[in-house]
Amino acid sequence: MIYDIGIIGAGPAGSTFARILAEIRPDLKIILLDGQIKRSTKPCGGLLSPDAQKVLASFDLSLPKSVLVEPQIFSVKTIDLVQNLERDYFRLYLNMDRYEFDQWLISLVPQSVDYVKAKCLKIVQIGSNFELSIKHGSELSKVICKQLVGAEGANSIVRKSFFDNKIDYYLAIQQWFTNPEKKKPIYYCIFDSQTSKACSWLMHKDDHLIYGGAFSPQHSRENFEKQKRRFCKSQNYILGEPIKTEACQVMKPKGWRDFVLGKPGVYLIGEAAGLISASSFEGFSYAFESGLKLAEAFQIGTNADQIFKTYKKKMRVLRFKLLGKMIKRDFLYTAWTRKIIMKSGVQSINKIKL
Ligand SMILES: Cc1cc2nc3c(=O)[nH]c(=O)nc-3n(C[C@H](O)[C@H](O)[C@H](O)COP(=O)(O)OP(=O)(O)OC[C@H]3O[C@@H](n4cnc5c(N)ncnc54)[C@H](O)[C@@H]3O)c2cc1C
Repeated sequence: MIYDIGIIGAGPAGSTFARILAEIRPDLKIILLDGQIKRSTKPCGGLLSPDAQKVLASFDLSLPKSVLVEPQIFSVKTIDLVQNLERDYFRLYLNMDRYEFDQWLISLVPQSVDYVKAKCLKIVQIGSNFELSIKHGSELSKVICKQLVGAEGANSIVRKSFFDNKIDYYLAIQQWFTNPEKKKPIYYCIFDSQTSKACSWLMHKDDHLIYGGAFSPQHSRENFEKQKRRFCKSQNYILGEPIKTEACQVMKPKGWRDFVLGKPGVYLIGEAAGLISASSFEGFSYAFESGLKLAEAFQIGTNADQIFKTYKKKMRVLRFKLLGKMIKRDFLYTAWTRKIIMKSGVQSINKIKL
């Protein structure tokens, strides 16, 4: 069997693309591959931002209860451990179980799409087709497709195989704790320029606490541990021993050339394309939108040049939006501008003290 479209990765980008493409182009034979075999090994805050909520609303989708965890969050406590600053800001995120969220998105993909739990190990272009070597359990096999979509996140095999644009990465580390002190739920956003240039977070997920952050790859684990200690000391927190530690790469887009949308016949969507907020690591909305835009580009037919041209055009606004996030990052991640913003109290919440 030769598939018209092979999609690698069934995260928010891949499953959205597969779902919409199957609806608007039922004539295409599609295969969706995903290599994740056990419950969430990928660190993620699992927060659905207002932008991502808006995209789901535009799809006419509403979240099932099984995806949500407690508590739901209305504010974020932002702290700067070096400058000893603290402010609360209003935020309307939905707190979710990331694994359940992905499973729900996959469940929306029509049966006409062949969804296979398999990891793609290698891609070879043979003439105008692509041969994917896949591992399905312990079995190795091959899949042939005419066009290829890389939706496999930060460690994209499609991006590495076909495009040599190097992009910088952070290493994201996240640990799970049992909340030994039964602390009141607070969602923290943590800045600590001694250990990381990016931000870290602490939040509750039902009975658990997660502490995570993004660090320069060099000495990332030492810096993570040091920051955790500094946080606990500053906020009088006891985290105890972690029950789980997760780590992955997270892209650090620095400019226009870090967004790689692909080429005719080989397309990238979601984080594989570098579409992630440089300031907050929010990525679901860009994953959904890029999946949608690429599926819409397929409406024009199967001419790969035309599809790619249309996809690129449709993605222009979103890429500009992400460039704006880079400017925001430069403000937030620079100590003196952060100090001005936090000290000014602009847009912060005045907590009522009883
Ligand atoms: C620590 C951390 C916290 C984050 N928190 C948030 C948050 O709270 N809110 C938010 O909006 N965004 C968050 N993000 C960003 C968000 O996780 C990503 O931007 C988003 O998941 C991108 O979706 P995607 O579908 O492009 O890729 P992914 O979600 O990474 O999905 C890729 C899929 O491809 C599969 N895959 C990978 N390689 C292969 C292969 N070779 N073969 C087959 N399958 C493969 C993986 O199993 C995975 O299911 C966070 C990121 C990190 C690192």
